[in-house]
Amino acid sequence: MPVSDPFRAALAAGRPIPADGAMGSALIARGLPLGTPPEAWLLAPDGAAAVGAVHLGHAEAGARLVLSATFGASPVRLADGPAAGRVVDVCAAAVAAARAAVPTGVLVAGDIGPSGVLLAPYGDLEPAAARASFAAQAAALAAAGVDLLWVETMADLAEARAAVEGARDGAPGLPVVATLTFERGRTLFGDRPEQAAEALAALGVAAVGANCGNGFEAVLEVLPGLAAGAPGLPLVAKANAGRPEVGPGGEVRYPATPADAAAYARRAVDLGAAIVGGCCGTTAAHVAAIAAAIARR
Ligand SMILES: [Zn+2]
Repeated sequence: MPVSDPFRAALAAGRPIPADGAMGSALIARGLPLGTPPEAWLLAPDGAAAVGAVHLGHAEAGARLVLSATFGASPVRLADGPAAGRVVDVCAAAVAAARAAVPTGVLVAGDIGPSGVLLAPYGDLEPAAARASFAAQAAALAAAGVDLLWVETMADLAEARAAVEGARDGAPGLPVVATLTFERGRTLFGDRPEQAAEALAALGVAAVGANCGNGFEAVLEVLPGLAAGAPGLPLVAKANAGRPEVGPGGEVRYPATPADAAAYARRAVDLGAAIVGGCCGTTAAHVAAIAAAIARR
């Protein structure tokens, strides 16, 4: 891995990097048609424009790293939807939308979310098949020109490993970041932050962390464990804007304010986070608060 890749250079600069906020909930706010996955909407001009507008809002708010709208763009996850088989098209459209929206110098990470299927022995997807699916997505993202790959929202360490290994297979030259989702200090599958960080560090990830979940506290509380499992590895915090609530019309709402996000960002940096952003429910206003709080740290 060349030391000169832009992501490692940004980390080596030693300043915390503000990352972006939510894509999925932001697209819903911008008119994502009900039942349409963002990856399919991206293939239509209005969808691509909405994705670009979300990226632009985050970059203008101070994000120096954005995730492509490819959370669900693995072959396995696309298989049952309207963009089935279109991994290359979706990844190309998503990365083009991000690059066109953000200024030069803002890092574009190729986002890789869970397959949406349980891995064996809990479900039907064999780890090798998951790995191959993630490898296809990683190759498409690399061909589209991302700066790094970003495995996220993993509830199962085994799937996170398959994704990181797939990323290595599909895009051998790119740095890979991996973050899992924790509740009360564990993943849904019971993995502790120490073991997750240790296992992912052994696979050579460039940074490890926590994202999504029931708000800022759920991410902050696992940062010490992640640091203990992978001493010296850069840490990532990308929390949801509080515990999601369902409104009267069935809509999902996120209660945390930008001031809450600023307080979270300060604590994350104090706990050693090198990259701080938001996940579901975090808007450009939250990102601006995070970026400003980090800049003063
Ligand atoms: Zn989330």
